[in-house]
Amino acid sequence: MKRICFFDTKPYDRLYFDEFAEKYGFEMVYCESKLNEKSVVLARGCDAAVAFVNDSVNAAVLRALEEMGISIVAMRCAGYNNVDFKEAYGKVHIVRVPAYSPYAVAEFTMGMFLTLNRKFHRAYNRVREYNFSLSGLLGTDLYGKTIGVVGTGKIGQVFIDICLGFGMRVLAYDPYPKERKGVCYVGFEELCKNSDMISLHCPLTKESYHIVNKEAIQNMRDGVVIVNTSRGALIDTSALIESLKDGKVGAAGLDVYEEEGDFFYEDYSGEVMPDDELARLISMPNVLLTSHQAFLTEEALKNIAETTTDNLYRYFAGEALPNEVCYRCSKDNTCKKEHKERCF
Ligand code: NAD
Repeated sequence: MKRICFFDTKPYDRLYFDEFAEKYGFEMVYCESKLNEKSVVLARGCDAAVAFVNDSVNAAVLRALEEMGISIVAMRCAGYNNVDFKEAYGKVHIVRVPAYSPYAVAEFTMGMFLTLNRKFHRAYNRVREYNFSLSGLLGTDLYGKTIGVVGTGKIGQVFIDICLGFGMRVLAYDPYPKERKGVCYVGFEELCKNSDMISLHCPLTKESYHIVNKEAIQNMRDGVVIVNTSRGALIDTSALIESLKDGKVGAAGLDVYEEEGDFFYEDYSGEVMPDDELARLISMPNVLLTSHQAFLTEEALKNIAETTTDNLYRYFAGEALPNEVCYRCSKDNTCKKEHKERCF
């Protein structure tokens, strides 16, 4: 029986992983620790490691896993900016879940726009104290407004469908445009200049790091609403805070945060928040901050468990790995997977 070391486990993870592990005959070793240089020893004696968005699959961790005889890390997520692919190449196979529910993230994103615009969060708190005043709760119609969508892959496309359903005008930016009716592809600068609202759905890469910075924000419409359900480091947090303070940015919805790895998914309610920028954002009435939860639906969790265990099954069976990623997959055309094999 193959033993799988599962890092950063939360109770809801086990809901579906237990079911699929039983089906494939895997023994799951659930660990609460995030994967890093210290916790990697927990994988000793296992045949594979399963990691998530805030685990560090860095060079030291990969070398330690290889030394333990583990040559596969199954990411139970779509994004992989936390993996050192150069170090992994030739040693440790990296598989992921490329799509589990674009609807989960796209619907959550629209929820953030609706909440910020119509101030559900403030109304909820107000009414609980029998304050039925409407002052300060004024919103705008979304109908007819222009939304700028950065990244039009699986999630971006579903989000565009939702926006078109609301009667919004859609501008989009993606280095690989997927032309479709009702969507106008423009450069990033033009998108910033002409959007009332901007939604980020691109992966975090060297090119997209701090794509929303001081200069980009200055170029945006006054009072623009920005929602980021992709990766925290797409936004320069200091620049965002300054622009929220001076009113250039009207509101921000953040399901992800640059330094989230230190805090998200944990309970710090009894402690003083040591991260001043996070505390500042949370203190603002026009900021809605959530703990990287956009993926969290029953359907998504089930698909994540099914694809992750299937990825592992294929690996142990010596089969090709359709969900493998390596640094050559996107960089040049030299990845073997193009020829329907494993990446190396
Ligand atoms: P995808 O690979 O289907 O689409 C990404 C799109 O972004 C592609 O069309 C690509 O061409 C485009 N892109 C790449 N670089 C870009 C750039 N610099 N500027 C603009 N566009 C660029 O990915 P997806 O499934 O739609 O997921 C998008 C992102 O959402 C993931 O990378 C992940 O970071 C994030 N995500 C977040 C959650 C959450 O719970 N908050 C859950 C799943 C995914």
